[in-house]
Amino acid sequence: MDFADTQKEAAFREEARTWLKNSVPAAKELAGLDPIRQAKLWQKRKYDAGWACITWPKEFGGRGASAIEQVIWNQEESQYELPGGVFSIGQGMAAPTLMTWATEAAKARFIPKLASGEEIWCQLFSEPAGGSDLAALRTRAVKDGDDWVINGQKIWTSGAHYSDFGILVVRTDPTVPKHKGLTYFYLDMKSPGVEIKPIRQISGEAHFNEVYFTDVRIPDSQRLGAIGQGWQVSLTTLMNERASIGAGGSAVGFDSVFKLAQKVNIDDRPAIENGAVRAKLADWYCQEAGLKYTAYRTLSALSRGAIPGPENSIGKLVGAPKTQDMASFAIDLLEQAGAIRDQSLSGELALYQNAYMSIPGLRIAGGTDEIMANIIAERVLGLPQDVRVDKGIPFNEVPTGSSK
Ligand SMILES: Cc1cc2nc3c(=O)[nH]c(=O)nc-3n(C[C@H](O)[C@H](O)[C@H](O)COP(=O)(O)OP(=O)(O)OC[C@H]3O[C@@H](n4cnc5c(N)ncnc54)[C@H](O)[C@@H]3O)c2cc1C
Repeated sequence: MDFADTQKEAAFREEARTWLKNSVPAAKELAGLDPIRQAKLWQKRKYDAGWACITWPKEFGGRGASAIEQVIWNQEESQYELPGGVFSIGQGMAAPTLMTWATEAAKARFIPKLASGEEIWCQLFSEPAGGSDLAALRTRAVKDGDDWVINGQKIWTSGAHYSDFGILVVRTDPTVPKHKGLTYFYLDMKSPGVEIKPIRQISGEAHFNEVYFTDVRIPDSQRLGAIGQGWQVSLTTLMNERASIGAGGSAVGFDSVFKLAQKVNIDDRPAIENGAVRAKLADWYCQEAGLKYTAYRTLSALSRGAIPGPENSIGKLVGAPKTQDMASFAIDLLEQAGAIRDQSLSGELALYQNAYMSIPGLRIAGGTDEIMANIIAERVLGLPQDVRVDKGIPFNEVPTGSSK
């Protein structure tokens, strides 16, 4: 690929850079606001100036920009420490699904408020019995007049506790094979019968939740796609989920661990002089170079207007374990101080401790390591398919493994 910007791309980069320089909120503007209000403030500012969700059509609050301009914008925006994160499911997954499957009236009602950050959405997909095998989910929807009545449970729902709306996939017909009996809806998270229970994580925080539905009524007008077409609609969401998760970077990388190894000692000598440390660093350097050039392939595809394929799974499959490995190594290098997670007491602002606690989740969310490896095996390398014993069997005839 050609690594230099074209003239048009360079002009776009300059415009983005100038706007960011003049518009990024100062620390005192954000002080005293909770993280959600901080994120909303920054999102609204971008929206008002035409820099929110820039590849979306202008009528939905976007800028009508190209995918490569999005990449340039991301590169420039990532130069600053900015509030965010709470919109990633709504903008990265719900919006593309609404754009593909919703009525014009629903698009006009919901998508601009996703772009402006006024409304936050969550993703109600995973269940205790349906994670990697999402199509095995059991939450039921039964038609009653113009409504559907929902009963069941979702789990690991990130941000359900502060979301206004959710995208939901449920079983409407258990008598057909699992992928054929699903239907997709969106719902107001304040609907009667929705109960949200936080799940405490290893880090002490509670970003995700269990969500219970007891006779929750959803109007049929909030269905996306046909009855029984929920799997196809879900694929629109999942394709966009992998793309948005795969794009995430981490502050823990070769550069940060290299600098740390220069600062700390092993046996009274700088760690960087230790052969075992150098060997580790060399491995990570090679992995990062491989990931960088793989990502450039994606950029090349985007700049030609092509859609990147399943090979994108490599970024998450290699990148997340590498970051976990580096964080663990850095904690060891810090010796006793590595055990301290209090930012005010730990030398590196708890960068490695926080990464070490959060990366295991990244290795699961949006497709576990094993599922990513299956995708690469089947869809990139063309190896034989994983065994699927329930293929073609009506869902209510699939053995559950329980004798009850
Ligand atoms: C931080 C985080 C945020 C999340 N946010 C959301 C959210 O907002 N909304 C939502 O709906 N879900 C969310 N999830 C749930 C996530 O999508 C699921 O955890 C994930 O799909 C895995 O499903 P599971 O947990 O049921 O594990 P399982 O599917 O039960 O997997 C258990 C183990 O078996 C392995 N395995 C399963 N199938 C295969 C196979 N065919 N071949 C080889 N190995 C296999 C898995 O790799 C894993 O190691 C989140 C998860 C995390 C960690």
